[in-house]
Amino acid sequence: SRSAGDTGRRVRLGVMGGTFDPIHHGHLVAASEVAAVFDLDEVVFVPTGQPWQKSSRDVSPAEHRYLMTVIATASNPRFTVSRVDIDRPGLTYTIDTLRDLRAARPDAELFFITGADAMAQILSWKDIDELWSLAHFVGVTRPGHVLHDLGRKDVSLLEVPAMAISSTDCRDRVAEDQPVWYLVPDGVVQYIAKYGLYRSALPGATESQ
Ligand code: ATP
Ligand code: MG
Repeated sequence: SRSAGDTGRRVRLGVMGGTFDPIHHGHLVAASEVAAVFDLDEVVFVPTGQPWQKSSRDVSPAEHRYLMTVIATASNPRFTVSRVDIDRPGLTYTIDTLRDLRAARPDAELFFITGADAMAQILSWKDIDELWSLAHFVGVTRPGHVLHDLGRKDVSLLEVPAMAISSTDCRDRVAEDQPVWYLVPDGVVQYIAKYGLYRSALPGATESQ
């Protein structure tokens, strides 16, 4: 017979990378749906350091993005947040994220969760061949983007509830004094207001990636 700590299978760990500037309900529902469908034990949210795709715009300080991610995930016992990317100097590459998580959790089977827009760029990612060896990839649907079938066994595609929300849109709304209630968790609405985030966004300075 097996105890709770000896289930006879490896821990299944989802990895949700993102800039999370700010984290919104599109991120959360995607992680929740993948966790349910793939029977994950935990999903670790990993806010990027300086994302290599986004050097062209100013990203909010990592500590703000980290804390908003902690606030947004705190109520879910299976959601955690990792500092590996924000504590590593330099640009963030997914290969480094997965290497660090693999080192920290050598017993875990990794499932990297990515939205359709990021999935479309995946073949251009650094060290793509090693990426496949480190994690199973789960591409999720996202309104306004086509989810491409890469034709690989180690990539799964999953339809998740459609949330037409982007961080870019949330930032623009705050800059224009429009509400972000119900687009982001309540605590994140209050955090944005408390620290005056996104109020000084300049036109053209907020392109999405
Ligand atoms: P930005 O507009 O600043 O690029 P974003 O909303 O795209 O922000 P990111 O932090 O860039 O958010 O995304 C992190 C991950 O979450 C990516 O894999 C992205 O595809 C996915 N994602 C973001 N929003 C959604 C959504 N509404 N539905 C499904 N996946 C999403
Ligand atoms: Mg994005």
